[in-house]
Amino acid sequence: MTTDTSTQTGIEWIEGAERLGPGVVGGPMEYSEQPARVVWHTTESGAGNTMFKEMADYLLTQGVAPHVLYDPVTDRLGQFGPLGFKAKSLRNDGDIHTNGVGVACIQIEVLAEAKRPFTDYWKPGPHFAKLMMAIRSWGVPDSFPAGNPPVFPGDSNRDRTTWNNEPGHYAHANVPGNDHGDPGRISTRELFRASENPSTDALVTNAAPLDNSHSSDACNSRAFKGSFR
Ligand SMILES: [Zn+2]
Repeated sequence: MTTDTSTQTGIEWIEGAERLGPGVVGGPMEYSEQPARVVWHTTESGAGNTMFKEMADYLLTQGVAPHVLYDPVTDRLGQFGPLGFKAKSLRNDGDIHTNGVGVACIQIEVLAEAKRPFTDYWKPGPHFAKLMMAIRSWGVPDSFPAGNPPVFPGDSNRDRTTWNNEPGHYAHANVPGNDHGDPGRISTRELFRASENPSTDALVTNAAPLDNSHSSDACNSRAFKGSFR
């Protein structure tokens, strides 16, 4: 017999990720006969530990938490809820609860701006590798079925047939029923390559406690209000 990977389940909690919030985001997936997928977002903010904390609190307070918050500069990784349950970062597509599409719909908010693709300057490390390992455990292939994430805020392919049926990675800009243009033109090659050969120089900064940061990035700390995702 052959193994049907379209509905395989995988890792719920990513090894080494900080727990953010109460540990529950949304309820069970609603369309779990459809394959697992990932949606990439940018927070439209700076990075650094001060922003990490502020953004985590903001996403929780606004009721729009993803599964994962990632800092592309420090390799810091946080997780709000289990990967096999719904998150809250997507708008509905008419009557379809987009957050509930797939055996998993893993949503990742990266502390970055869509106009400045984070793969141009990021420092992915061991935590990014763990994130990608968890993603692959759900049978998500290293591909972007709707095409590479578009240059922000360019035209977006939001084809429903592709979204409903194809496992893989998607830009928020390619999700039906949504109108955001993030995460910008990130390099898909860099994304998949980084997880195979993570650098280790990000570990030290990742270990910094929440209240011990004086990142100058905090000057952008109000930029995300009203414009995140
Ligand atoms: Zn988004």
